[in-house]
Amino acid sequence: MQPSDQDLVLQRFHRDLISGSHILHYHNVLDAFGHLSVRHPLNPQIFILSRNTAPGTISSPNDLIEYYIEDARPVDPSAPTGFIERCIHSECYKRYPEVQSVIHSHSEAVVPYSISGVPLRACFHMAGFLGTNVPIWDIADAQQPEDISDLLVRNQHLGSSLAASFSGIASGSISPEHVVALMRGHGFTVLAGSIQDCVMRAIYTQKNAAIQSTALSTRSTGTTVTGPVKYLSQKEVDATTWSIAKSAHRPWTLWLREIEASGLYANSA
Ligand SMILES: [Zn+2]
Repeated sequence: MQPSDQDLVLQRFHRDLISGSHILHYHNVLDAFGHLSVRHPLNPQIFILSRNTAPGTISSPNDLIEYYIEDARPVDPSAPTGFIERCIHSECYKRYPEVQSVIHSHSEAVVPYSISGVPLRACFHMAGFLGTNVPIWDIADAQQPEDISDLLVRNQHLGSSLAASFSGIASGSISPEHVVALMRGHGFTVLAGSIQDCVMRAIYTQKNAAIQSTALSTRSTGTTVTGPVKYLSQKEVDATTWSIAKSAHRPWTLWLREIEASGLYANSA
């Protein structure tokens, strides 16, 4: 029997979700931990996330689990074990209907900016989406007495609090004011309108953090410092976000070739 158009759409999303996970592992944004999800293309009340395993090792739709956004409950009660932190994803999709993909990472390049008191700022034109300030969500401010203090987003109320941190002063808006939020002592979460844009933002968030760290360490070792660190201005943030968004297909095509050529990954979707 020929697959329907809907079958083909879902197959493409499965393939991109698996490839995106491999790309993020290849670029060290994810290691054995962290995850990429996508809103279901045929049912906006459901999202798709891999089972509880290292993202670089998933290889087929059997590794993917569908969850209800309402409460992060698996659609199939007999589904394999899922990630504890899946409420990061469900609550972001719930709060922002236009968000189609979410990534949560423990990137070691980014974590310092969640604890050091030095704000993460857009440093180069590829990361204008970071804006002039990136919110830091501190889980300690959201925890209730019964919550475990292991920094993990283990339930809906913690996920909801994290999702709200993207809203900034425009609290309650259906559009996040920010697309990246740092998580104190843990990592970061990124939102986007597609898997491809989300992967690109996660990779360039990590690259921006590395550039900023290099710039700051260069200042600290320089014998003569002639001025402050020059981050992107609001005008530059707006312009670069607009211009780079039109080029998202280019890195995706390259990154697919990289993971295929690496021989590390399999994708049967
Ligand atoms: Zn985590």
